[in-house]
Amino acid sequence: MTMYKLREYGLLEFLDVVSPRQASKEDILSAHSPYLYDLVRELSRFERGEAGSSSFTSKDTFRLACLAAGGAIEAVEAIMEGRCRRSLALIRPPGHHAGQGHTSGLCFFNNVAVAVKRLQRRGIRKVLILDVDSHPGDGTAQIFYSDPSVLVLSFHEYDQEVAGAGWLDENGYGEGEGYTVNVPLPLGIRGKPYLWVFERVFHGVAEWFRPDFIVVSLGLDTHYADPIGNLFLQALDHAEITGHVLSVADEFCKGRVSFILEGGYSLLALPLSVAAVISRIVDSKIEYYDRIERGGAPPQSLKRLVTSLLDRIGSYTCP
Ligand SMILES: [Zn+2]
Repeated sequence: MTMYKLREYGLLEFLDVVSPRQASKEDILSAHSPYLYDLVRELSRFERGEAGSSSFTSKDTFRLACLAAGGAIEAVEAIMEGRCRRSLALIRPPGHHAGQGHTSGLCFFNNVAVAVKRLQRRGIRKVLILDVDSHPGDGTAQIFYSDPSVLVLSFHEYDQEVAGAGWLDENGYGEGEGYTVNVPLPLGIRGKPYLWVFERVFHGVAEWFRPDFIVVSLGLDTHYADPIGNLFLQALDHAEITGHVLSVADEFCKGRVSFILEGGYSLLALPLSVAAVISRIVDSKIEYYDRIERGGAPPQSLKRLVTSLLDRIGSYTCP
């Protein structure tokens, strides 16, 4: 449906569409334990299995998970080889909940982490991973928790009543302390207050960290129609988030940015949101049919959140 929507909007003509290859075992093991690799491969010999929390497998799982990771690698390689300045990987299954040794939440291999490990092997010194999925990039944070050369910045819904990942005071460990930044947002937040927080924190973090490359965990389950996410963004908001990412990438890392698809489970909303992101990347306009009220000025609680995050970032020494 997404490709159909991109064709309908005339966006495909702006793109070089590339089919990825499966990631190699070496690539998967750059971010994951041999145990996890073997677990996903062996379970995929059966019609049905369960590799971990909400991570159900079928006979296609291992092949598709390797293909998704290969798609993320292709996205960053296309930029490293000079074939483009910006790229987007339309892949499934998602990856950002998968940690070094565990699967979780529909994620088997962490596509973004595998791609960032490739960038590190290619000599890229500092990578900023921006996670805008409705849920925290907890697997990604775990993999890079003590690595100061990879900053993981995650904006996500946060339910005060339910214990979960993505707390404000998860900041990294050892040499990596300060290089995990969580931005927990209230359930139901709408576009304008979200963007108010997003622009300030993202720009502040990028200005402090000065990345050489930005990789975006592009979760689009922040759309109000999504059956899993609990935020109230719309496709126009996804376009505006994208526009801000592009301008920050232009400002700090020569425009080098790869968008890697994560969540997004509404078959009506996801194609429109992907089209919105791509329309901003290729600087083309599309019609939106999902318009809702975008909210108003941010409440004091969000202003305090932004102030405390930026103060905390300023208290660390930049690498
Ligand atoms: Zn999600």
